[in-house]
Amino acid sequence: MTFRFAVRQGRAIVVTGDGSTYLDLEEASKGKYGPSPASAFANWRKVRELANGLSGGAPLRLDELDNPSPDAAQVFAVGLNYRHHAAEMKSDVPKTPLIFSKYRSCFNTPNGDVAITTPTIDWECELVLVVGSGGRDISRNRAWDAIAGVCIGQDVSDRALQYANNPPQFGLGKSRKGFAPFGPWITDVKDLPNCDDLEVRCTVSGEVMQHDRTTNFVFDIPTIIEFLSTVVELYPGDVIYTGSPSGVGTSRTPQRYLKAGDVIVSELVGHATITNHCV
Ligand code: ZN
Repeated sequence: MTFRFAVRQGRAIVVTGDGSTYLDLEEASKGKYGPSPASAFANWRKVRELANGLSGGAPLRLDELDNPSPDAAQVFAVGLNYRHHAAEMKSDVPKTPLIFSKYRSCFNTPNGDVAITTPTIDWECELVLVVGSGGRDISRNRAWDAIAGVCIGQDVSDRALQYANNPPQFGLGKSRKGFAPFGPWITDVKDLPNCDDLEVRCTVSGEVMQHDRTTNFVFDIPTIIEFLSTVVELYPGDVIYTGSPSGVGTSRTPQRYLKAGDVIVSELVGHATITNHCV
């Protein structure tokens, strides 16, 4: 069984079957793990073992899900991590991973609405990692062992705020209310056939805007984890947005920004899909 973890109304759950059912982690583990998501990330391998023996459960409604790490202590994002995206932003390809932070108050539910409060709001569909064991000084060959799982997210961006000055202000430009939907669940890294080759795809109101594979990263995930963890400690449950492929709205001719009524569908192909309505 593929181990998929999610958070429903503040409680850790294991997603079962084809994704249409769930079991509450605290109940399924007879009180050993849960209800807090943190207790699952800190004991990820044991929770996986337990989950592998589970089946059945109650019907899962996607609109009842929180994002899969609502209590994350830190939220990292990688800027300009695909060559074509760096080029379309008329930026140099970074020499070392370009890291910024999305502030946690911009967390959204996986399928939550995105409020269009300015005329320059743009999409960025990204592979999102949730840290498992974490730590400091994680070497690249151990990097994936420190990650619990993967999901899909939108690094929604207000370009006018981001580029109001030179150098740009990434953190705030990407942290308006609701600017970080991700989920709907995380798939355990151990259940990915090749964790360094994942496919991301984004449509806006039915039109394919972004489509790429993580084999095209400037810095692959092991490099990012090694680099980050030499500077900061990665805590269980931390969230890492790994960078946007090309195809964002601000670089199109003519430019295209999100407007009320648009529907953003973001996919980690084969593993996770989120849908966000612009209002
Ligand atoms: Zn981004």
